[in-house]
Amino acid sequence: MLISNGRIVTFGAANEIIENGAVRVEEGVISAVGDTESLRAAYPDDEVVDARGQLVMPGNICAHTHFYGAFARGMAIPGDPPRDFPEILGKLWWKLDRALLEEDVKYSALVCLVDAIKHGTTTLIDHHASPSAIAGSLDQIAEAVTEAGLRASLCYEVTDRNGPEEAQAGIEENVRFLRAAQEDTDPLLAASFGLHASLTLSDETLAHCVSAAQGLDTGFHIHAAEGISDEDDSLRKSGKRVVERLHDAGILGPKSILVHCVHVDAWEMELLRDTGTWVTHQPRSNMNNAVGVAPVETMLRGGVKVGLGNDGFSNNMWAEWKAAYLVHKLWHGDPRRMGGYDVMQMAVGNNASLARVFWPNRPTGEISPGAHADLMLVDYHPFTELTAGNLPWHILFGFEADAVTATMCAGRWLMRERRLLTLDEADIAARARELSAKVWERTLALQD
Ligand SMILES: [Zn+2]
Repeated sequence: MLISNGRIVTFGAANEIIENGAVRVEEGVISAVGDTESLRAAYPDDEVVDARGQLVMPGNICAHTHFYGAFARGMAIPGDPPRDFPEILGKLWWKLDRALLEEDVKYSALVCLVDAIKHGTTTLIDHHASPSAIAGSLDQIAEAVTEAGLRASLCYEVTDRNGPEEAQAGIEENVRFLRAAQEDTDPLLAASFGLHASLTLSDETLAHCVSAAQGLDTGFHIHAAEGISDEDDSLRKSGKRVVERLHDAGILGPKSILVHCVHVDAWEMELLRDTGTWVTHQPRSNMNNAVGVAPVETMLRGGVKVGLGNDGFSNNMWAEWKAAYLVHKLWHGDPRRMGGYDVMQMAVGNNASLARVFWPNRPTGEISPGAHADLMLVDYHPFTELTAGNLPWHILFGFEADAVTATMCAGRWLMRERRLLTLDEADIAARARELSAKVWERTLALQD
C-alpha cells in the first residue's frame, strides 16, 4: 500500500519533512519513503491511499499509563477532599482498584484504547492493578489490546499494601504473563514486571520479585519518588533514598522504568544514568496530585533517559507535551525552561528508544524503511511555515486533539476518516456505563 500526497514527518535520525511525500507499507512494515511521484512510478501496482496533503506522522507512544483508572472519570468521593498524595491514593485509587472485577478490567482498558486510536497513540506501556481480580487480569487487558489492534506492554503492580497473599498473586501474574508473552506469537503484545512503589514494598518482597524475574529477560516498571512521602518512607525503612534502595534491591537497569522521579537528588540521578534506567515524566498527573515537578531538564542534560507518559490522563499525548512545556516555565518562573526540543526529545526520541526495549526487532516511532508501520494522518494546514526545525512549536501551539483523522498500527488501519474500524465505540461506552455504575457503588462502599 502506498500512502501518497502527504507531508511526511519522519522523526528518527533523518528527522525531516518530505513535501508531497509517500510511505509504502508492506506486511506491517514501512518498506519505502520518498516523494509521491517516484514511489508511484516504482510501485505502479500498489493500492494508493491519498493523504490529501495531511501530515503523515509516526503514531504517538505513551511511556506510562493506567488503563485501570478510566472508571474514575466523574466519580465523586464523599467527605473532605484528599489533602495530599497519600490521601489521594487511599481514598480514590486504592478503593477503585479494589472494586474492579474481571470484566471491568477489560472494559476499562477498551475505553482507553478507543481514546488512544482516536488520538493516534499506537504504543502504550500500561501498569495495572485490580486486587480483587489479579490472576488472569493481564489476559483481559491483552484481549482488549488485541481487539483494538494496538501495541502495548503490560504488567501487574506487586504491592504489600494488601497483605502477603495478594503480593504473591501479583508476582505470579507478572511471571505468568511474561512467560506467555514470550511464547505467544502476537507481535504487538509485550510484558514487564510491575511493582507499585517503594513505599508499599518491603525489602523481602522486592527480593522475591527479583528472584521471580530471573531468567525472564525483563526489567521492572515501578513508581519512584512520586510524592515526598515515598522518600520519607524509604529513609525511614532503609536509611536510603528511593532510587538507592531500589538499586541495592536489584531493580534498576536498562529494561526498567522508574515512573515520575520527582524527588530525586544528584546521586540518585547518577545511579539512574549509570544503570541506563528509564525515567518517565507525567506532568498532568504531577500537577493534579500536587507532588512537585521532576528535574527533567537536569536529567536530560546529564544523560538520564526520560520519556513521556500520561499516568492515565487522556491518550492525547500532545496535551501531555503542552503540560510539560508550560509547567516547568511556571514552576521555575523562567520562560526559557523546558524548550520545545526537550519535550520532543522525551516524547519522540526517548519514547521510541523505550519502545525498542519491548519491540527490539525494528524501530517504532519513526518513518523509515524497516520501521513498524505505526502511523497517523493529521489534518493540520498551518498559516505559517512548517519545517522539521519548528515542528515542536506547531505541535505545542497548533495541534488539537481532533486533528487525527486516521490511525494505523503494524500496517493495519484502526481508524480512517475519523471512523473507528476495530472497536465499536458506542457499544463499548454503553457496556462501560453499566459496569462503571457498579464499580462506583463498590468503591463508595469501601470508603472508611
Ligand atoms: Zn502511574
